Amino acid sequence: MSYVLRNALIPTSTGYETRDVHIEGEQIAEIGPSLAVTGTEVDARDKLLLPGFVNAHTHSSEMWQRGIIPPYPLELWLAQLQEYSPLDTEKVYLSALGTAVETLLTGGTSVVDHLVLIPGQELATIAAAVRAYRESGIRAFIGPLIQDQALSAGVPSGGSATLQQEAYPLTTAEVLGIVEEAVRQFHRPEEGITLMVAPTGIQLCSDDLFRGCVELSQKYNLPRHSHLLETRAQQMLAQEKYGCSAVEHLQRIGYLDNKTSLAHCVWLTDADIEILAQTGSTVVHNPLSNLRLGSGIAPILKYRRAGVNVSFGCDGAASNDSQDLLEAIKIGSILHNVTDLDYRHWMTPRESVEMAARGGAKGLGMAEQFGSLAVGMQADLVLYDLTQLSLLPRTDPIGLLVWGRPTQVVDRVWVRGRQVVAAGTVTTVDVNKLRRDLFAHSHWDPLRKSKQVKQLEAHYRRVMGLPE
Ligand SMILES: [Zn+2]
Repeated sequence: MSYVLRNALIPTSTGYETRDVHIEGEQIAEIGPSLAVTGTEVDARDKLLLPGFVNAHTHSSEMWQRGIIPPYPLELWLAQLQEYSPLDTEKVYLSALGTAVETLLTGGTSVVDHLVLIPGQELATIAAAVRAYRESGIRAFIGPLIQDQALSAGVPSGGSATLQQEAYPLTTAEVLGIVEEAVRQFHRPEEGITLMVAPTGIQLCSDDLFRGCVELSQKYNLPRHSHLLETRAQQMLAQEKYGCSAVEHLQRIGYLDNKTSLAHCVWLTDADIEILAQTGSTVVHNPLSNLRLGSGIAPILKYRRAGVNVSFGCDGAASNDSQDLLEAIKIGSILHNVTDLDYRHWMTPRESVEMAARGGAKGLGMAEQFGSLAVGMQADLVLYDLTQLSLLPRTDPIGLLVWGRPTQVVDRVWVRGRQVVAAGTVTTVDVNKLRRDLFAHSHWDPLRKSKQVKQLEAHYRRVMGLPE
């Protein structure tokens, strides 16, 4: 399929210029004034063309619990989340579809789904998400969320052994076997579906699990993903577990490299930051989730000054509680102004969109394939309608997009050269049917109470030095 976008506004190093953009097959074939080519003509006048963003960390099935988990820190929030995780693959399919739609309509063309697996139906869970992402046409990176230790292992002991450690039902080899089988069945990067290795984090994973993931990553050329030091409790746990920081430990066991992306990174030391820079690792900034769970403010300005690549994620919809990528980019950009008096370190809107697009692709080891508006790159592109009320009056298009509260501004989207959004509507998914299905598969449940939180809470409060 061939498209010619006529008179699109595109950013240049000094401002903006009006250009035609020719998409041929999956790629951007030409960019220039008044191109003499044929193809489906798209009137892009008064529209801003940007490379698509990467929603670089989310958990699609958390959509079923958005807006309901009380104001808890991660460790207690997680206990409630797990207790009510969806256990049927139809729900997994619907929430993956919902995540794709919300990402596409807020500037994203790629999603990294750190996918929670239904116990005993792991491959069927992955199959359901793959089906949704293929249908939607979004570029998907699916990291089956794995661990080989039970939830209670994720809370520091604080020197006491009061918390009972139950065994995890699968062995490390069994967990790795599931990932490898998933890679064989579903890993098709040339079709827009990439599998990743994605141990949940140091808090619930053994060294053998991390090492096994490194092997799979090398064997199949897979991006690596994990949560890292999201909370202060995890920082304490790393010291208890390893006697050093989690970052030092991950470097020692070989997990960090230039296609490793790490979600959160709130509690890192200056020495840790240096290690991330040296290894070429990427930080995925999830500002909404960090605020919602009280995890802290990730030192993003320090990362940027140290040369660490940073991208943006929404994180799962139960800790956000949305999948609006433009919202995450806005908060994730201005949040840090309160952490550094020197305004010259603050992020500009142009830097933010670069982080969201190219930074996201780089974190997946794919910055040569997509994430930039240049000839030869994959056509993962978003056209924003600059005549929408939330982008008026006319000042600086990218400033309005990042700092404003843009609503319904995504006009058209292409992923790998295929158009998936037209006139502000996702064309690959029956969104009205999706709405009906999400409604029918859920019910109002405001009085939900978690038994698991009750079991964990006294211990958590003691370890964290909170009054009983
Ligand atoms: Zn997460």
